[in-house]
Amino acid sequence: MDLNCWKFELCNNQRLKLLVNLACGFLTLLVMVNPVYAQKSAESLQVATRIVPPFVFEQEGQLVGFSIDLWRSIAEQLNMKSEFVVKTTVADLLAATKTGKADMGIAAISITAEREQDFDFSQPVFDSGLQILVPSDSISNSPSLWTVIASPALLQLVGVFFLIVLIPAHLVYFSERGKTEGMLVSKSYFPGIFEACWWAASTLATQADAMPRSALGRVVAIMWMFTSVIFVAVFTATVTTALTVQQLQGNIQGPQDLPGKRVATIASSTSAAFLLKQNIQTLEFPRIEQAYEALAKGGADAVVFDAPVLLYYSAHGGKGKAQVVGPVFREESYGIVFPSHSPYRELVNKGLLTLKENGTYQRLYDKWFTVQN
Ligand code: GLU
Repeated sequence: MDLNCWKFELCNNQRLKLLVNLACGFLTLLVMVNPVYAQKSAESLQVATRIVPPFVFEQEGQLVGFSIDLWRSIAEQLNMKSEFVVKTTVADLLAATKTGKADMGIAAISITAEREQDFDFSQPVFDSGLQILVPSDSISNSPSLWTVIASPALLQLVGVFFLIVLIPAHLVYFSERGKTEGMLVSKSYFPGIFEACWWAASTLATQADAMPRSALGRVVAIMWMFTSVIFVAVFTATVTTALTVQQLQGNIQGPQDLPGKRVATIASSTSAAFLLKQNIQTLEFPRIEQAYEALAKGGADAVVFDAPVLLYYSAHGGKGKAQVVGPVFREESYGIVFPSHSPYRELVNKGLLTLKENGTYQRLYDKWFTVQN
């Protein structure tokens, strides 16, 4: 070894080695001090999402929607590389985030006190809440007389009425036909039987204006009068039942009308939690489309879910089939969800605020939620 080299100046080779070591040391320090930078630069962030139109949906194999656009803008703003991982249910999405399989989650995820215990959330990205969707044909503002008139029970009764009227009418016709002083004006069959039917019908409605003269005719009249009393009682009961049934199945106008109804919703969502707390019978589905289908096929009386999701459906796929009713009854805000103490939260918040300040957020909001005339 050259002693001069040690004492007075480092030889070229050693100088290079020292520089490399210093650089490595500096980089290691950077990695230790700033893990965000380290991980971010290493590989793509895993962003969990789930299909919930109009926030996230698939179009020709591509993910689109408000939340997708929003995340892409944030990532672009922060110069981050990321890829989406689609989960089936909210529970799956949250589990992937909690265990760190995903770095964050974005869809239509409500910020709740319970979730805040296990996760971190970004600043609110959207104001939402719960609302009710019902089939369009179930909406009527007044009790429908037509529904009662057209009820199968009442139609059956009217059919029976026309048939049984023929029995006393014929008995009276044949017993009165021979009598000169009889009740009937016409003795020939058709006009005579028509008169007798008229008499039987008006007796049934307790409005008869003539009585048979023959002995058999009178006996028939008395029996028919008793039958009329029973008929009127059955008729009243049938109409009352039809009205009551209509009221029971009647309009849903708000959450107060939900008990006793079959309500479809999404498993492990905030809506499912709300309905459970209210002791309302629920049908829980993993995908919102399945809840819409249950409503359309009559398997459910209403769908309770996030208002913007239901509004979007009623204006697009469900137009003319389903309608949103009543107010937003539980306000919620959506946020981007992170595992607790995530190093990305602050960074994402910064990106989000920048998008709100520079008008990008508003542009995306208008793209997905403002109805263009
Ligand atoms: N916003 C609801 C929640 O966070 C529903 C989310 C969903 O089903 O995607 O529970």
